[in-house]
Amino acid sequence: MITKGNFLLLELPEFRPWILKQHITRGISRLQVHHTWLPNYSTRKGQDHFKCLEGMRNSHLANGWSGTGQNITIFEDGKVAISLDRDLNKVPAGIAGANTGAICVEIIGDFDKGRDDMTSLQREAVGHVYACLASKLKIPVDTDHIVYHAWYTPSGSFLGDYVPNISSKTCPGTNFWGMGNTVASAKKGFLQDVQYEYDKLKESGDDAMTTVEKLEFDNLVKKVAKLEEETKKIPAPKWFVSEFGSSDLGGKISDPSFTLEGWRTLAVGLRVGK
Ligand SMILES: [Zn+2]
Repeated sequence: MITKGNFLLLELPEFRPWILKQHITRGISRLQVHHTWLPNYSTRKGQDHFKCLEGMRNSHLANGWSGTGQNITIFEDGKVAISLDRDLNKVPAGIAGANTGAICVEIIGDFDKGRDDMTSLQREAVGHVYACLASKLKIPVDTDHIVYHAWYTPSGSFLGDYVPNISSKTCPGTNFWGMGNTVASAKKGFLQDVQYEYDKLKESGDDAMTTVEKLEFDNLVKKVAKLEEETKKIPAPKWFVSEFGSSDLGGKISDPSFTLEGWRTLAVGLRVGK
């Protein structure tokens, strides 16, 4: 989790704990699906994530927008960025005329036919992010609530499907998810994968630990067990009895039980006194 400039960059396993902690005060009923078109996989080669994000922000500011257009950006390597200047409580600038009540997610790449092939890391991240958002915001996983930019006209009227030359754009791409940008392709591919991930999240419960949290928790349990072991009182170790004759020094100690460290300290003291 790194904050720099106007963005917070998360590793994919960090997204769910992060979103569960967010206090969202505006009503949200739709999740927009976009590809960035530019930047895309060619321009991203070797480029720093924050440089890419600030670049998008600058071009959005140059449009006269108040900040980065999207709330969330998903990279080709599966990392997820949150726009700090367009936090989830701010209406995005994603689809002109249709942003109220929506969250704008931009997927880095150009997914028109013959352009970028979505990496498996990004595919996993996209499915996970939409499932987490749907779960957190209680948004149904269907084509009325998870919507492609291409299903709108340039003025923001909802067409309900991609209609070439009438839709404002091809976004998120005529080969998005390897299938296309129509309602039929969304139902057959993308939304099924989001639903699958959503069901997995529901099974594990909203309070369930993520893999990362589980690892940290297991380490903590081990540490505590080790500490307990170190502070446990024990009867005299064999080496103590054989060196000093008895565990209570011939009746001098009324309750001969110390921690291992205690027995060692006692032995050191007794040796000095010998
Ligand atoms: Zn778009």
